[in-house]
Amino acid sequence: MPLTSEQKAAGRAFRAALATRVASLNESDPPHLLCSPWSPPYLRHECEGQRAGTVAMALREQSEDSPDGLFRFTWLEGRCHHCQVTARSSSGYLTVLAP
Ligand SMILES: [Zn+2]
Repeated sequence: MPLTSEQKAAGRAFRAALATRVASLNESDPPHLLCSPWSPPYLRHECEGQRAGTVAMALREQSEDSPDGLFRFTWLEGRCHHCQVTARSSSGYLTVLAP
């Protein structure tokens, strides 16, 4: 069943609210590396914990569902366990859970 125009509007508002929240988080608790919400699950960086070369850190999905259970907003966060460098996506993306 397609989403009604009210549901689509609610989805846009939820996405905007969560995008603002992730943007504020990136301002108040800035990561060392900003990545795309569509980054592959491993992000390579020049790692001070290693003698040479780059090391991949895992980017984990963080998400929050809308109160109506229709939408999920997902963003990415990661931390290198060698050098403690952190990464977070600049924003996130919306998934429709139950149309
Ligand atoms: Zn590292």
